[in-house]
Amino acid sequence: MKVDVGPELQSFRGAIRRFLAENRIEALVGAETLNGFGDPAEEEPGGPVDARRHWESILAAERLICPQWPETVGGRGLSAIEMAILNEEFDRARMPRVMRGVGESLVGPSIIVHGTDEQRAHFLPRIIDGTDRYCQGFSEPDHGSDLAGVETRGVVDGDDIVVTGQKVWTSGAHLANAILVLCRTDSNVPKHRGLSYVLVPIRRDGMDNGVELRPMRQMSGASGFCYEVIDGARAPIFNVIGGLNNGWRVAMTTLGNERAYRAATQHLRYEREFWDLVEVARKQSLTTDALVRQDLAWAYCQVELIRYSGLRLMASILANREPGPEASVSKLFWSEYHRRFGSVAMNLLGASAMIRPGGPGYTNDRWQQTFFESRAGTIFSGTSEIQRNIIGERALGLPKD
Ligand SMILES: Cc1cc2nc3c(=O)[nH]c(=O)nc-3n(C[C@H](O)[C@H](O)[C@H](O)COP(=O)(O)OP(=O)(O)OC[C@H]3O[C@@H](n4cnc5c(N)ncnc54)[C@H](O)[C@@H]3O)c2cc1C
Repeated sequence: MKVDVGPELQSFRGAIRRFLAENRIEALVGAETLNGFGDPAEEEPGGPVDARRHWESILAAERLICPQWPETVGGRGLSAIEMAILNEEFDRARMPRVMRGVGESLVGPSIIVHGTDEQRAHFLPRIIDGTDRYCQGFSEPDHGSDLAGVETRGVVDGDDIVVTGQKVWTSGAHLANAILVLCRTDSNVPKHRGLSYVLVPIRRDGMDNGVELRPMRQMSGASGFCYEVIDGARAPIFNVIGGLNNGWRVAMTTLGNERAYRAATQHLRYEREFWDLVEVARKQSLTTDALVRQDLAWAYCQVELIRYSGLRLMASILANREPGPEASVSKLFWSEYHRRFGSVAMNLLGASAMIRPGGPGYTNDRWQQTFFESRAGTIFSGTSEIQRNIIGERALGLPKD
């Protein structure tokens, strides 16, 4: 089924497709989405450094970094549906977007909704040009699903807020120079009400700002996230988004966008991955096996459903509604799909899936990696159980957990 997007959007698609064809950089074809975090020579697996810098400058000149943001702050003011088309075309050309860590998807949208004009004018251009590179410091050792219970404290001291506590599972922290922290600034009110959302520099004026990063290893062998010990880290009060003690509302916007953003892009990766697995089945003469066919047919239908549920969410955002329970439906759907897809791939490969390739460190082949990584999807951005609670309570009106 093809979605008719009308002549205007068709012409937008054509323009993006031409831009990508004319500016294609061979060395970056198939590279992972570029975070544009830190020194590009660092760990980001995004192709040669010079090529990545050049690509960033081309995208910046065309205002194609954070292009959905208002033109007044350096974006291009693209609508949600234009963003869906843009993502599809980048994916089709196999050229990477520059996402600025969680800047484009989480921090920026929350500042746009809850920040003051001064905060929007200050923070958003700095994300677009790569000056500020954020990671998301929500989870704590005892507070993951129970986010409202966070214990990290924020104390106002003159023009600063001083933050002390611990955060954990912070993706990309080792590549960021600032962390968005949800912290408790009032312990004398119900727990959702005493929280603040603070943008904390990891270093300040080139000096240590009391944020110690300890890398952690995932079961795939990768070390994509950190544990942070925050000891008296300072940020100007100006860096509190949404006002003191109003952080819960801002955090909900961040989480809604986190779920919604992936909902609209996830099918692109899954579609490619699906056809790659079909190719593996063909090479192994498994496409006549009834059980393999059944699994592949199931996976194909799920990817299509993810696609259309993502479009439905886009339409809701286009109508200026903030992502609500429908974002949880999408997140639950794609993450549970992918976890099962990882097992389908392992089953299809049979005994060979159990043998890891040789080489230094903890190596995995592509399908082993998919199997491991797909487990994480049902945990981050709120576990599947939490999504079911949200759907039950906010969409179906069931009694509270
Ligand atoms: C790959 C990865 C990347 C991550 N990146 C980040 C990041 O960048 N920033 C960040 O802040 N966090 C990040 N996280 C952390 C993630 O948000 C938490 O792991 C998640 O919210 C779950 O919290 P927890 O691990 O403390 O588990 P817990 O909250 O302790 O949950 C344990 C189990 O109990 C279940 N459970 C808990 N409460 C309920 C309930 N009320 N009803 C039903 N079941 C319940 C959960 O579903 C889960 O199965 C990341 C996690 C992963 C795996």
